[in-house]
Amino acid sequence: MKIEPTVSRNETLFARAQETTPGGVNSPVRAFRSVGGTPRFITRAEGPYFWDADGKRYIDYIGSWGPAIVGHAHPAVIKAVQEAAAHGLSFGAPTEGEIDIAEEICKLMPSIEQVRLVSSGTEATMSALRLARGATGRDKIVKFEGCYHGHADSLLVKAGSGLLTFGNPTSAGVPEDFVKHTLVLDYNNVPQLEDAFASMGDTIACVIVEPVAGNMNLIRATPAFLQRMRELCTEHGAVLIFDEVMCGFRVGLGGAQAMYGIAPDLTALGKVIGGGLPVAAFGGKRELMQQMAPLGPVYQAGTLSGNPVAVAAGMTTLKIVQEPGFYEKLSATGEKLVEGLTQAAHEAGIAFCGDAVGGMFGMYFSATVPMTYGQMMAGDKDRFNAFFHGMLDEGVYFAPAMFEAGFVSAAHDDAVIAETIAAARKVFARIA
Ligand code: PMP
Repeated sequence: MKIEPTVSRNETLFARAQETTPGGVNSPVRAFRSVGGTPRFITRAEGPYFWDADGKRYIDYIGSWGPAIVGHAHPAVIKAVQEAAAHGLSFGAPTEGEIDIAEEICKLMPSIEQVRLVSSGTEATMSALRLARGATGRDKIVKFEGCYHGHADSLLVKAGSGLLTFGNPTSAGVPEDFVKHTLVLDYNNVPQLEDAFASMGDTIACVIVEPVAGNMNLIRATPAFLQRMRELCTEHGAVLIFDEVMCGFRVGLGGAQAMYGIAPDLTALGKVIGGGLPVAAFGGKRELMQQMAPLGPVYQAGTLSGNPVAVAAGMTTLKIVQEPGFYEKLSATGEKLVEGLTQAAHEAGIAFCGDAVGGMFGMYFSATVPMTYGQMMAGDKDRFNAFFHGMLDEGVYFAPAMFEAGFVSAAHDDAVIAETIAAARKVFARIA
């Protein structure tokens, strides 16, 4: 595998970071453990680009892992943040901006009648789970292999993303007792889901799913899988939770639920709704949400929940994505990218395919698009790593692990996509 040449300032910073921060990073995937080499320390970002500590420019295909859907440092978002910041950073008391963004979310995702703002996707899914358990009085939860729902204890079972990179099916420090109620099933396996409900349906509090999975590369749920899940949850009184932290406002305006035409009982959101600052949310049916404190018995709270500066960034982002043609253009960009990459790979005789849904895409070093975690894991990891480093040298930054989805933004125009494909053509030829 090819390791990039010496990158002085990045290396210096990485060495320094490792003295005071475990692994030198504040979120594991950033450490490049899966692909090897030195992580890039970013100094600034604009539109589709960011620059590292050596001043090298990259076309960025992670977009902060989803939030940067309108492009980095969008002038309207920056202005909104500056104006909000000038009025004070945090009050610990309600603000009108929180009502505005709640109304916007409820309008754009009609399955959400009430919503509670939190600061991370982890909090959103963790709280949705607690609510589902509190409202049903049941303990068991169902999740799917390869889906990542944040790092709450009972969800850290066969989760995707960084956990795949590190080969930990489960984290240390999670007591067996905490996960004994978590049932892990195969993604896109309808008969298995039916069996689970047939044998224990009346003890299942909820099913939580990424309706478009983005933490085991990109894998779409089949319509039949989600449809049957909806029916089974309704029949058995279980809460259906769509984790749209990644795919919400990313695959399309109404999220995956609009794309599939399936209404979950609860939805977890994050990333795009914060526009690059910490806003996430969970919401859904009014009767469920009214079980939350201060109205009901399910407790949840946050010092910085609904933070005015973060909400200003999120609200402005949500306005921009509603501009006419926004998602049509975003989808076309994603499709152009994967088509171009696929063609370039095939010209070099490399087994490769891709998929794109709205502003999310997957690249697979395999002949066919995977439908399950197992199929995704069978991809050619060594070749992905060589491709990743080759592209990095060329100034294109893809997610530093084969198990991650990619992201395009509204700032990725035709010239940026063409530059990416030209770079890929060179790299594929080199690694063929
Ligand atoms: N759910 C999904 C689907 C995610 O992709 C993520 C983050 N990648 C989370 C939950 C957790 O969000 P956060 O990192 O903000 O805690």
